Amino acid sequence: MTETLKIVIVGNGFGGIYTLKNLHKFFHNDQRIELTLVGEKNYFLFTPLLHEVATGGINPANIIEPIRSVLGCCLHKFYLGKAEIINSKNHTVKVGNDLVSYDYLVLAGGAETNFYDTAGAEKYCLTLKSIDDAVKIKNHCIAQMERASHTEDRNERKKILNFVVVGGGPTGVELVAELEELVRETFSHYYAKEVIEDVSITLIQRGTELVSQFGPKARAKSLETLKKKGIEVMLNTAVKEVGASYVIANENTKILTETVIWVAGIKPAEMKFEESVSMSPDGRLNVNEFLQLENQKENFAIGDMAFFKQENAPLPALAQVAEKESATVAKNIYNLINNKNPEKFVYKNSGNLMSLGQWKAVGQIANFTFTGHVAWFIWRTVYLSKLISFRKKVRVAVDWTLNLFFPRDISQL
Ligand SMILES: Cc1cc2nc3c(=O)[nH]c(=O)nc-3n(C[C@H](O)[C@H](O)[C@H](O)COP(=O)(O)OP(=O)(O)OC[C@H]3O[C@@H](n4cnc5c(N)ncnc54)[C@H](O)[C@@H]3O)c2cc1C
Repeated sequence: MTETLKIVIVGNGFGGIYTLKNLHKFFHNDQRIELTLVGEKNYFLFTPLLHEVATGGINPANIIEPIRSVLGCCLHKFYLGKAEIINSKNHTVKVGNDLVSYDYLVLAGGAETNFYDTAGAEKYCLTLKSIDDAVKIKNHCIAQMERASHTEDRNERKKILNFVVVGGGPTGVELVAELEELVRETFSHYYAKEVIEDVSITLIQRGTELVSQFGPKARAKSLETLKKKGIEVMLNTAVKEVGASYVIANENTKILTETVIWVAGIKPAEMKFEESVSMSPDGRLNVNEFLQLENQKENFAIGDMAFFKQENAPLPALAQVAEKESATVAKNIYNLINNKNPEKFVYKNSGNLMSLGQWKAVGQIANFTFTGHVAWFIWRTVYLSKLISFRKKVRVAVDWTLNLFFPRDISQL
């Protein structure tokens, strides 16, 4: 009988799930191979639609897929828990009380929020990395609105209704655009006009422009659209401190608010290694052209926790990067098992899309930028197609269709 080869994947996000799907294509029904997944949640989360859950546009259950329903047929074992320690000498991963052994390992733990040691930020800010975060944001906005609705003091009411988002990347821009539709449009169906008039939304961006990863036309369109929506955009502004009811920006600009959502940066998910591993200055795992850890050809890293340089720049933290890397990693594991040479990874950007609220979006493919209804329609079609199961695609399509005719659901969850 031939020996079984164990392939273990840590992380059940874009990188992990797509690695498993790609390995399945190579090894379906192959009795030599055992595929194991380790994940902190029992579901895959479709992060690009999190901002719509946070603002009541999509039901939270509709952007998650249970691992078992995604990968039923080829998954040998699933460990629900955190991979705590990687031992690349003994080829083991410690998950709670279990020691999971492997022949090939794929690390795809993603990233977590980076507050860059900003005073008070971790304590007082809301974040947007998980379903729980998104639900917390929605519940918080509704609670603020309820309290404001019976607050007589206008200054106090303005503070309660000032919603601040820190971070002018695509997540921050998409979030403020949708937030505006929740707190101004949807809430206007249920709350008094004078209360809605006191709503303000501020987007704080440290850099000179929004969405620096997009071209000039897309950047200008984003800024113009947010301004038209009445969102205050503060560029060149660094948050120095966050408190329970304020933000200090730059040296001494004090913004009164009880809602600060921090989407200003990420850092790789924490993982401990028994042996030393090579890391980039920002803590990501350095990988070679085959996506292997340096000097460890059985260990691969992909997605937000991997540092892969192309044309002298590290690849951005994007779902499409993780997804494309997963195809190369699966191919390389297949090649190594079959005594073939691994293939080099080359990233080809398929284009970027960003929603700017109902009927508005920007898209960019190579040097071509498109905006407005066309971009919005393409954005929705692409993201709908990317949801994994048909069932969830239908549910999100239904949520979106209902939102065209009715106000969003403002029940707290
Ligand atoms: C709000 C938001 C919107 C986004 N929008 C877009 C977009 O529109 N387009 C785009 O391309 N990208 C988008 N991204 C970025 C995209 O989500 C990431 O780049 C992508 O998910 C990276 O894939 P990954 O596999 O590295 O990490 P993830 O998808 O984050 O998956 C990592 C998984 O590993 C798990 N994990 C972490 N540590 C451990 C451990 N020790 N043990 C076990 N499991 C562990 C985590 O719980 C998580 O499930 C967005 C991100 C966010 C937060």
